[in-house]
Amino acid sequence: MIEVTGLSKRYGNHLAVDDVNFSINKGEIVGFLGPNGAGKSTIMNIITGYLSLTQGEVTVDGYDVTENPEEAKKRIGYLPEIPPLYVDMKVREYLNFIYDLKKVRFPKKPHIDEILRLVKIDHVQNRLIKNLSKGYRQRVGFAQALVGNPDVLILDEPTVGLDPKQIIEIRNLIAKLGRNHTIILSSHILSEVQAVCERVIIINRGQIIADDTPNNLSKKLSNDHSLVARIVCEEKEMYKALNAINGVKSVNCLGSKEEGTFDFAIVPEEGVDIREIVYKRIVERGKTLLSLSSNELSLEQIFLSLTETDNDVARRKLGAGEAEENSAEEAATAVEIEIIEESEEQE
Ligand code: ADP
Ligand code: MG
Repeated sequence: MIEVTGLSKRYGNHLAVDDVNFSINKGEIVGFLGPNGAGKSTIMNIITGYLSLTQGEVTVDGYDVTENPEEAKKRIGYLPEIPPLYVDMKVREYLNFIYDLKKVRFPKKPHIDEILRLVKIDHVQNRLIKNLSKGYRQRVGFAQALVGNPDVLILDEPTVGLDPKQIIEIRNLIAKLGRNHTIILSSHILSEVQAVCERVIIINRGQIIADDTPNNLSKKLSNDHSLVARIVCEEKEMYKALNAINGVKSVNCLGSKEEGTFDFAIVPEEGVDIREIVYKRIVERGKTLLSLSSNELSLEQIFLSLTETDNDVARRKLGAGEAEENSAEEAATAVEIEIIEESEEQE
């Protein structure tokens, strides 16, 4: 559906995209993962025809974006990082305007009605966009991308700046749209991409440094399947108890993030599943286990693994305490997000 061959983009002297190649099949949901400045938006802007390319070729459904921009663009719905909303328009009025801009041919009213329902904004269709919450504005952004029923959706950091509940809602919407669209979405957060994408392209400094399923990436890159446990306990006693468990290689206390509790990173011996025994030992001691989660690899760790040199390894070891603390925080956030049920925002 999308073929990118030898793509490079130069801004003046700065090479922002450097010989990138990938192809995306119809129906795939692909995540572009990379830190700020990696080149994600630039690649998206080129695919959508908003930016010219310096070198290479991009086709969408067989249409070259440079030679046949209209045909290529017709097949793409684009949600840029900052949605192009006219905030003084009402929701429906704005979508009608986009419909006219895109010169869509289907009957107007039923088409807009269907989109309003799909992204669940029909009840705010007569409200001014500027009076909507950020989550709802983002849905209006999705709605404009859907006008004209494009096969491909390109979503640039679609959950940035949203609160956890809105993030869940947008994720569910993406999953729903994924059933009958080809989707590329970008993010600098690994868990974000893991939650919705079946394939991840990791971009760093304008180059693709990995292209695989999220699970394979985590597995390949992780030799650390550690757990993070939050326990109502005393630090020293629990540290000793966890260390004494068969199958536990090492324990590291990550400090107290919640009053009366301590977080521990527990590293198992290779190939051992220690979750059950850890749970039992904690309960046997009359302590309460508040959460137990796998210490998922952060994007930073993945980058280090993919690009690190011996010097970096040494540096990381020196700064290990700090790194562990960060990943524990991330793990805790992931748990919080998971327990939030899908619910409708009340406007
Ligand atoms: P990302 O979306 O991954 O954060 P971008 O594609 O926005 O990255 O940017 C890639 C690189 O290109 C960055 O170094 C950025 O500063 C640079 N860049 C982006 N847009 C422009 C521009 N219009 N002019 C000059 N440099 C730019
Ligand atoms: Mg960007």
